[in-house]
Amino acid sequence: CPLERIHNFNPGPAALPLEVLRQAQRQLIDYRHGGMSIMEMSHRSSDVERLFEETGQLLLKLLGLDASYTVLTMGGGASMQFAMLPLNAKESGKAGGYVVSGSFSEKAYQEARFVGDATVLASSKNANWRTLPAVDDLPLDPAMAYVHMTTNNTIEGSQFRHFPDTGAVPLIGDMTSDMLSRVIDYRRFAMCYASAQKNLGPAGVTVAVVRKDLLDVFAKVRQLPSILRYSTYAQHKSMYNTPPVHAVYMMKLVLEWTERQGGIAAIEQENRRKAELIYGVIDQSDGFYDGLIAKSDRSMMNMTWRMADEAMEKRFVLESEANGFDGLAGHRSVGGIRASAYNAVPYTACKALAEFMLDFRQRNG
Ligand code: PLP
Repeated sequence: CPLERIHNFNPGPAALPLEVLRQAQRQLIDYRHGGMSIMEMSHRSSDVERLFEETGQLLLKLLGLDASYTVLTMGGGASMQFAMLPLNAKESGKAGGYVVSGSFSEKAYQEARFVGDATVLASSKNANWRTLPAVDDLPLDPAMAYVHMTTNNTIEGSQFRHFPDTGAVPLIGDMTSDMLSRVIDYRRFAMCYASAQKNLGPAGVTVAVVRKDLLDVFAKVRQLPSILRYSTYAQHKSMYNTPPVHAVYMMKLVLEWTERQGGIAAIEQENRRKAELIYGVIDQSDGFYDGLIAKSDRSMMNMTWRMADEAMEKRFVLESEANGFDGLAGHRSVGGIRASAYNAVPYTACKALAEFMLDFRQRNG
C-alpha cells in the first residue's frame, strides 16, 4: 500500500528522501548481510572505517573539492563549531572577523567573544535582518585568523549569492542550511561546516570540510582538550572516540541519493523551481503574503512571510496542518510563516503548498 507522507516543510530536522528511508529500513537489522545493524557494530571494524572514508570522499566529490581538503565528522552540531573554530584559532593570537547577517551568525560571533577577541566586519542587524550586509568591501585586516559568514540564514530566510574575496585570510562558512543545495565555488572557503539535519541527513553528525593548510595551522594548538581540537579528528579519521556511526551511515545514503539526482547542479535547478513557485504566489498576492526578506536576498531554502496579523497566521498554520502540511510556523523569534524546502522536499509538495496558499488567500483575502 502506498505510504502516506506528509508535506514536510520543517526547518530542521527536516524531510529525508523516501527512498533513503526505505534503504535504511532494509538495513536496520542486517547491514550488508552481516547479521547485525550498523548501529551494533564496533567503530573499529573495517566496515565502519570504510563507511567513514567513503562518506568523506563522496562529500568532497559532490562539493567539487579535491584532496587538499579533508572531511571531519563529529557531534555537537553547528553550535559546537561556533566555539571550536575560535578555540582552535586562538593560539595564533589572531581574532576572527564576523559577517553578521542573522541570529545564527550573531550566535557564532557571541561564542567567539567568549573565547577571545572577535570583530564584526559587517552586520544587517539594524535592518532587522531583512537584508544582507554588503560583503564587497569588508574592513579586512591581513592579521585576522579568519572571516566567518553564514551562507544561508535559516531563521530569517536570506541567502548570500556572492562571497567576499578575503585574500589570504581564510573564509569560513556556516553552511548548515544550504550545503549541497546549489552550485557555488566551495574552494573559496578554507573551511565550511554544517550539521546534517537539513540537506545531509538526520541530526547527530556535523561535518567540517577543512583545507589542509588551515588544519596545519589548527594543529599547532596546544592549550585545548583533545576532543575540541580539529587536529584530533583529522589524526583519528573522525574516530578518536565513539562517533555517531548511524548518523554518518544515513548521511552517506543521502549523499548517494544526491548523486543519483544528478549532483548539486541538478538539485539546484529543482530547488530554484520550487522556490519560484512559492515566491511567485507571494509576489502576486497584492501584499496578502508579505515576504520578509528583500527580493535580491531571498533564500531558496527557507521562505518567510508575514500575513495581516497573528490570528491570520495562526489560522494559516492550523489549516495547513489539516491539509497535510507540517512545519510552516515561523521561528518563535520572528513569527510569521516559514516554508523550508530543503533538497528532499519534492517539487510536488511545493506545488501543493502554492495551491494551498492561493486557495487560502481566496477564502481570506
Ligand atoms: N547555523 C545555522 C545556519 C543553522 O540553521 C543552525 C540550526 O538550525 C545552527 C547553526 C545550529 O545548528 P545545531 O542545532 O546543529 O547546533
